[in-house]
Amino acid sequence: MIIEGNQKELDAMKEFHKGNRQKGLELQEQFASEFREEYKDKDHCSCKKACRYHGNCKECVAIHRAHQEHVPNCMRPIINAKIRLLSELTEHTIANEIEPPKEVLRKEFQSNAPQE
Ligand code: SF4
Repeated sequence: MIIEGNQKELDAMKEFHKGNRQKGLELQEQFASEFREEYKDKDHCSCKKACRYHGNCKECVAIHRAHQEHVPNCMRPIINAKIRLLSELTEHTIANEIEPPKEVLRKEFQSNAPQE
């Protein structure tokens, strides 16, 4: 089961936009139910950073709400997709003005990590 772009959730949103709230809620619950089952014992968190709150959404979200600087890492692709559209307005020249931060990733995502 994929989470990002899950077809059931995309369909649910279509129903909400059409004004079919009940159908949207039904599809949403089906997604949540499948998610609950599939990720009962599996890691659902897409964040690659070395962080003691990995997968602990409750505390992760609270931390981000508290510091107000940026959103939880799993939300980055959604927001970056929207920013990319806006960035087209200046032919992505913002890329000349910014640099991604150096982040401390978990060992398995470090490019110079020893292979085990
Ligand atoms: S909210 Fe935080 S802990 Fe939950 S999936 Fe997103 S990054 Fe991971």
